[in-house]
Amino acid sequence: MTLDSARNVYSFSEGDRHQKALLGGKGANLAEMTRLGLPVPPGFTITTAACRAYLAEGELPDRLIGEIEAALHDLETAVSRKFGDPADPLLVSVRSGAPFSMPGMMDTVLNLGLNDRSVRTLSQQTGDERFAWDAYRRLIQLFGKVVLGVPGAVFEEALAKLVAETGAADESGLAASDLRELTDTFKAAVGAASGTPFPQDPHEQLRSAVEAVFRSWNGRRARDYRRMEGIADDLGTAVNVQAMVFGNLGGDSGTGVAFTRDPATGERVPYGDWLEGAQGEDVVAGTRITRPLAELSERFPECDSQLLDVLDTLEQHYGDMCDIEFTIERGRLFILQTRVGKRSAAAALRIAVEMTDEGLITQTEAVKRVLPAQLEQLLHPQFAPHARYRVLTRGLAASPGAATGAVVFTADQAEARARTGEAVLLVRPETSPDDLHGMIAAKGILTSRGGLVSHAAVVARGMGRPAVCGADEIEIDLEKRLFRVGDFTVVEGDVVSIDGGTGEVVVGPVSVVIPKPDGTFDRLLGWADGLRRLRVRANADTPDDAARARAFGADGIGLCRTEHMFLGERLGLIQEFILADGPDEERHALDRLEALQRADFAGLFRSMHERPVTIRLLDPPLHEFLPDIEELAVADARGELDEASQRLLTAARHWHEANPMLGTRGCRLGILRPELYRMQVRAIVGAAADVAAEGLSPRTEIMVPLVAATGEMTMLSALIRDAAEEAQAAGDQRIAFKVGTMIETPRATLIAGELAETAEFFSFGTNDLTQMAFGFSRDDVEGRIMPRYLEAGVLPADPFRRLDRDGVGRLISLAVREGRAVRGSLETGVCGEHGGDPDSIRVCHELGVDYVSCSPYRVPVARLAAAHAAIGAESTGASV
Ligand code: PEP
Ligand code: MG
Repeated sequence: MTLDSARNVYSFSEGDRHQKALLGGKGANLAEMTRLGLPVPPGFTITTAACRAYLAEGELPDRLIGEIEAALHDLETAVSRKFGDPADPLLVSVRSGAPFSMPGMMDTVLNLGLNDRSVRTLSQQTGDERFAWDAYRRLIQLFGKVVLGVPGAVFEEALAKLVAETGAADESGLAASDLRELTDTFKAAVGAASGTPFPQDPHEQLRSAVEAVFRSWNGRRARDYRRMEGIADDLGTAVNVQAMVFGNLGGDSGTGVAFTRDPATGERVPYGDWLEGAQGEDVVAGTRITRPLAELSERFPECDSQLLDVLDTLEQHYGDMCDIEFTIERGRLFILQTRVGKRSAAAALRIAVEMTDEGLITQTEAVKRVLPAQLEQLLHPQFAPHARYRVLTRGLAASPGAATGAVVFTADQAEARARTGEAVLLVRPETSPDDLHGMIAAKGILTSRGGLVSHAAVVARGMGRPAVCGADEIEIDLEKRLFRVGDFTVVEGDVVSIDGGTGEVVVGPVSVVIPKPDGTFDRLLGWADGLRRLRVRANADTPDDAARARAFGADGIGLCRTEHMFLGERLGLIQEFILADGPDEERHALDRLEALQRADFAGLFRSMHERPVTIRLLDPPLHEFLPDIEELAVADARGELDEASQRLLTAARHWHEANPMLGTRGCRLGILRPELYRMQVRAIVGAAADVAAEGLSPRTEIMVPLVAATGEMTMLSALIRDAAEEAQAAGDQRIAFKVGTMIETPRATLIAGELAETAEFFSFGTNDLTQMAFGFSRDDVEGRIMPRYLEAGVLPADPFRRLDRDGVGRLISLAVREGRAVRGSLETGVCGEHGGDPDSIRVCHELGVDYVSCSPYRVPVARLAAAHAAIGAESTGASV
């Protein structure tokens, strides 16, 4: 690839916020703030196109170097200083800025332009020798690490050694002479570790730093982050070169981050952290104790009121919660970056609804701003309010949700143990972007240091991972792999629980509850309901499930799996039916089952009242209701079986099949044992009559599973109508009902037109349909085959999670089209697990089915996802 545009470098005074693809998010927003007249230090942006060209060619094209030098010249003119001038040096920062926000994932180098000569000028100009040497050693440290690949520990150890030797409490206690010595140590370390001396030529420093930032696009943590957030790998990053301002220039300087609203709760109050006498990275690194934004006015009253104005301007201008990085240099405020801020799920919901009430955004925009995954988090488990547990210690409630897991102390350990299926909790003093893979693998994150804007907190919130940060009573011993709180010791592998909504840290597992959503939740979902085309039903098997589904706003029941009603004490009855010796015995068992089922179905109809209830006639293989053959055979060999158990063993052997998922299940069962289905139909029709007699309006849909041939459907449809007649002839009130079929076999999709002559609705059982379309066993494939397939890119996603649009989707689309051609009123839905998955819901929307059906807890998520599909909203968290 070569440079394709006439220009690859833009001054901040040229672009605007809509140019994120070219200038990156940071560059576009710096340009926008410059346009708004906000106090942004001047600078320029090297485009993402330049990055792509660099990555393709492996070197900076000459023309680009020329453009950078020209932009640098303009910057020198703007600030009346020269880059590399030993008498009055211009210093710059070099920061990455991708089109999508990737906080902390790529590299930054500060204080570029310093060298052995200009460090002395800086010292004279500022009258602060300590500051100048500190700035220089930071440059060598960052440059060494980022550009020359020297391990960070080399610098950290040298620094720690010097602090120990001088007897200072920490690095802030080092004198100018110590820092000068440290600079020499760092230079020597860079030379030794990289084989390249630290470059004294500022132009060379700049070119190398730009290349390093470009390269960091393909670094491991950036790639991990992109995979997690669904960001494309081929976008590239822009690079921002900006005149340095210093928050560590004596006592009347400082630096901080601020949000226009509270990013954890969404409350409409500016929120942030700052540090006096510090440089940007110190705030987010979590290594120093920050002060709350509310205290800025005590120290810097003028800057504080100017900052509040800036926050207000930005929020009004962007119509969203923004965050900024600011620096105060000698009493003067500068804004170094802004972006639409990351927020917790609770904050996303509250901000969206409140901004709508404030007239800042529309209801549709509000719906767009809450992602289905965020809503899901709000339904996340939390510690049960009355659960009994002993709080070991507390930290900051950094990211909501409760998590329990075995303690591990490194990201690699977290990844390795999680791979074996173990739930782990990552415990660190603080996290850095290098820990990302461990944070992804862990159920929760616990840090002993760092605030609510520390890396751990920000990243965990974005990922929806529960996190407790800054639990400062915890003393971590990384070497011995343990932590202590007072006298109590927790070693690696011990189970610990955290509640990221309260900050509690608890030893051992804790019982959890799903929180009850508040009014904001219902309002946003109400707006979503007004936007969606797809209806959302629930898969509910019991009256309790049905009541929960209604509370979550289900439009009906899309699937009642009646086999779930035959568990527990009813198992004996179904076994009696299977073993029945002649019609009388069979009738006896069925009569008792009918009474129980009739009561169950009535409960479902009552919960749903005027909404449809689809009841599927019994589906799974009968052998599932019989005991394990091996166990019985062993007992038999020992002569321990009584007569009843002997009969069970004989029946279990009789019904045994090599491939039960393709065996006597679904409608095949109804054809082999018609009395079972007749009983179920009588119970359904009878229950509907009971509920209608109470003045309610049941809407009954009877569904035949696993149909593959037209003959199955016509035979069973006749059976159903006949059994209903029988029930009604016996005195039940006449009720209307529909008879439909599940579409779960590929053949059923191909003969959908014929099936629609009998079936009044289709419900796509996409679990079985996926199983049979791919020929993957739905019970086994995820164990061994799917992980390898996904890793190797053989499949883009697990088709049992995300509906396979190209294959299974095509079958569905064919069946919908051909079915509707025969029966215009044919209703269609998807009731496999895909019905609750946001990406699959989008596919369902596009396929034109009428509804999706999912577990009750996923109904709110599905309502929102259906609205997102209808308004074409992005469903990933990759916003800028
Ligand atoms: C399906 O196959 O998608 C379905 C909903 O039925 P079950 O999961 O009960 O087989
Ligand atoms: Mg099925």
